[in-house]
Amino acid sequence: MFDPATQQEADAPELGRVARDVLGESPRGPWSHVPDEVWNDWRWQQRHRLRTAADLERVVRLTDDERAAIAATGDQFRMAITPYYAALMDPDDPRCPVRMQAVPVLAELDVAATDLADPLGEEAYMPVPGITHRYPDRVLYYVTHNCPVYCRHCTRKRKVSDPTSAANHGQLDQGLAYIAAHPEVRDVLVSGGDPLTLSDDRLDALLGALREIPHVEVVRLCTRNPVTLPQRFTEALVTRLARHQPLFVHTHFNHPRECTPEAARCLRLLADHGVNVANQMVLLRGVNDDPAAVKALNHWLLRQRCRPYYIFQADLAQGISHFRAPLQSGLAILQALRGHTSGMAVPHYVIDAPGGGGKIPLVPEYVERWDEDKVVFRNYLGELYEYPTR
Ligand code: SF4
Repeated sequence: MFDPATQQEADAPELGRVARDVLGESPRGPWSHVPDEVWNDWRWQQRHRLRTAADLERVVRLTDDERAAIAATGDQFRMAITPYYAALMDPDDPRCPVRMQAVPVLAELDVAATDLADPLGEEAYMPVPGITHRYPDRVLYYVTHNCPVYCRHCTRKRKVSDPTSAANHGQLDQGLAYIAAHPEVRDVLVSGGDPLTLSDDRLDALLGALREIPHVEVVRLCTRNPVTLPQRFTEALVTRLARHQPLFVHTHFNHPRECTPEAARCLRLLADHGVNVANQMVLLRGVNDDPAAVKALNHWLLRQRCRPYYIFQADLAQGISHFRAPLQSGLAILQALRGHTSGMAVPHYVIDAPGGGGKIPLVPEYVERWDEDKVVFRNYLGELYEYPTR
């Protein structure tokens, strides 16, 4: 478990690296000759995504396991990596946190006995194709199955990256009609895949159509583009997005190595246009099951005006069991944050109950014991305090 005495020391190298990332230039790997205006063109990044082992070998020295996995997993869950995200990888270290999130390994072929095809019961709560209506007042609205980078830990592996299952115009209209016909829906999470793979015009039209539904109060855009393709957020796009307020962006940074000047520019651009951005980190073994890394990440996010919102326990999706960290790791991270840094840097740690039970918060134990007249608590330093029960 977390030891407060060693916290300061453990933070130092990670914080130093984040400071360098934010102040310095992002690495460009084999694309150092590419002019800035080309590198920062999201269409160029999309067109030049790495899809094969040969592509990737220009950037990293692949292990035998990675090479075999790229061949073996392609039919189930494709590989695609933007040059921007690939250049963040350590070319020599297969345990690099960016590399682990984007490059397949053979462990993805293992299906644990507890794995589920649809871990969050999203299909079970699907009244029409492309809508999950699980909670009373909000829906998930899937608008695409494409993403700039296919994250190896994706919870929707069963659909994402499969072009045959993508939403067509008819399905999108059916989703809008469902939302319009259900006045209890006041909050719509536009998700996928990554909705930012739609064109500016389609996104604008979609958000405009949602805004025309009187009972839709809040729209949330769930996107990992700030992490994997921050160039996608151009001034022109963000200006159009900001017309659909109240609009919230939920993104998914997992490690300080993803905290680059480009990502900072993207988050600040959204904040400058009045778009609230929140981060939903997924706890991943070997990637970010480390209090110092999470603390550094959250501090960086706050500096860009992005709120650390959730830490998700990895769900029971098939082929991601190698990423699942024990629950004690998540609790140790929370314990390392609470009291040791500002409350704004402490997200909710939740487990999305298998089968569609919804989010259940997990919190470290601070109550030492309940007596008849008092409760004895333990504070963040492990010191005991009493409070009367009445
Ligand atoms: S961006 Fe989101 S939906 Fe797309 S692969 Fe990554 S986790 Fe899955």
